Amino acid sequence: MVNIMKNERSLVYFLITICLFCFLAGSCSQNTESTSFTAMNTYMTVKSYGKNAAAANALVKEEVERLEGILSTTIEGSDLYKINNTDGDEESEIPVRTETAYLIQRGAEFYKMTGGAFNPALYPVIREWGFTTGEYKVPSDERIRELLQNTDFSPVVECPQSITRPAGLQLDFGAIGKGYAGDRAVEILQDAGIKSALLDFGGNIQVLGTKPDGSDWTVGVKNPWGGEPVAAVKLHDACMITSGGYERFFIGQDGKKYIHIFDSTTGRPVENDLESVTIICREGIYGDALSTALFVMGLDKAIEFWQQRERDFDFIILTKDKGIVYTTPLEKSISLLFDFDSVRVVE
Ligand code: AMP
Ligand code: MG
Repeated sequence: MVNIMKNERSLVYFLITICLFCFLAGSCSQNTESTSFTAMNTYMTVKSYGKNAAAANALVKEEVERLEGILSTTIEGSDLYKINNTDGDEESEIPVRTETAYLIQRGAEFYKMTGGAFNPALYPVIREWGFTTGEYKVPSDERIRELLQNTDFSPVVECPQSITRPAGLQLDFGAIGKGYAGDRAVEILQDAGIKSALLDFGGNIQVLGTKPDGSDWTVGVKNPWGGEPVAAVKLHDACMITSGGYERFFIGQDGKKYIHIFDSTTGRPVENDLESVTIICREGIYGDALSTALFVMGLDKAIEFWQQRERDFDFIILTKDKGIVYTTPLEKSISLLFDFDSVRVVE
């Protein structure tokens, strides 16, 4: 009798131990995993929640590094290196990987849609100004004119699937590469069963789902004048991508500031009254293309562009005179955290 009771007690202890173990294992599997690394010339962080988070983050890192190896303009052996460094006066056909063909196809779409404000064929001009090497200079007007002759992306637009490069054409996907990498990262996380994640790819933010507690993520808009974020936006399943004149620039001998975003009509860095353009939308590659393009367009054209589209994105534009302009659907998700001189909501 005593023995039976003892056995029963052992069984209860055993079951309690098992339950405790399962509970602990269950709570450990709902963990948060943050992985940071440097790729595509920026610092990137992936923060995922849930089972497999560490393994999923590792897959993201691997994929971003693989994409960099394909899309970098400077890594020998990348598709872009091959496209940009194949000699020949004649048109030439260059075999490329699926990812490059996809970016050319989407690049063509954005080039058309933005009337050339987004132009991946500006590479020869951007390089001449020293933005790829860090050896900055202001080229002569004649040199710029000469280089601009090779920056027409239209032949590729006509036939984006076949990579037939007109002589002299050189490409750079610096304006959409990180957004595209973010989209791939989100796909990888979803395939790994992750439902909640936040990616920060050098200031390009992409969020998957909501926060683990079901509430929206709060993402800050960087202060171009230094200091705390100037606004916060609540988001889920979206990206928030910024192009800013403060990100990369040099001061010329003439004392002028030359930024890394170029106007394809002049072959010169954009000079306008904008500090930054932030795009909020679903797809990273689209947000990245538009942040660059709307910066090039300037305020009035950017507003017109938004009004003509099917409201498939929103923007927040910061102007040099300490103003903020944003699209009306954001009214329900934006909080202003800065004492702006002017606030304008575009309908
Ligand atoms: P982002 O920071 O996304 O605006 O991208 C800027 C990068 O895209 C630059 O560093 C250049 O490599 C490239 N770029 C500059 N101007 C343009 C443009 N008008 N269209 C497409 N790419 C550009
Ligand atoms: Mg961009």
